[in-house]
Amino acid sequence: EDSLLGTLRHFLRRRYQTIRAVEGVSFRILPGEVVGFLGPNGAGKTTTLKMLTGLVHPTRGKALVAGHVPWRREKAFLRKITLVMGNKQQLIWDLPAMDSFRLNAAIYEIPEGEFRKRVLELAEMLSLTEKLHQPVRKLSLGERMKAELLAALLHRPEVLFLDEPTLGLDVNAQVAVREFIREYNRRYGATVLLTSHYMADIAALAERVLVIHQGRLLYDGPLAGLLERFAPYREVGLTL
Ligand code: ATP
Repeated sequence: EDSLLGTLRHFLRRRYQTIRAVEGVSFRILPGEVVGFLGPNGAGKTTTLKMLTGLVHPTRGKALVAGHVPWRREKAFLRKITLVMGNKQQLIWDLPAMDSFRLNAAIYEIPEGEFRKRVLELAEMLSLTEKLHQPVRKLSLGERMKAELLAALLHRPEVLFLDEPTLGLDVNAQVAVREFIREYNRRYGATVLLTSHYMADIAALAERVLVIHQGRLLYDGPLAGLLERFAPYREVGLTL
């Protein structure tokens, strides 16, 4: 099985009562690919990411992610993936960043020495080394997003699901987060599926884009082809 992430047999579907959040989505992503997941608000991106990470069960359909059925939430599966939601705060507000990270490491039973090594390595890549002993609440929005990424990567996941990782950040922080994602993919060969409304993120990172609209997949291919087919691209949820 060469596909790291893909649906089998049926298209994925998720309904909330009568709301058709995801009506028919099917795609494959190969190991090491960085794929942009686009669509206007409410198109079904987050619901798809939740299915692929096992947070919600599909109403219909099957998925295989890193060799596992996500909604079984097997320990081996959870060790291989990570989900970062740009609008959700996971770190403990009043703890020094390092201690908040330590709680994440404990969940994955990472020994202290290895934990320190990984934190320092990631902090270096994120220019966060100076901030490790500051309480999370003292960090700027951009630093907090970087810290969220650091915490989410301590267990060295193979597959990264990133939901709007640059949302609301200033331009410098956006560039830094974007460059970090690219460097992380290059260095560790991680597979990345990321949503963003920012054209610059998608242009800089995504080798391929998927477009979802009203719960259905509209496009799967290179960004250039997308822009030819869907001008103006605001219709697919992108802004400059
Ligand atoms: P956004 O960019 O705004 O986050 P999205 O593409 O991620 O949008 P989803 O969050 O997946 O879209 O939502 C798809 C549809 O499903 C929307 O109509 C939304 O209101 C609905 N929906 C999502 N979660 C629930 C829920 N828990 N209960 C009911 N409806 C939901």
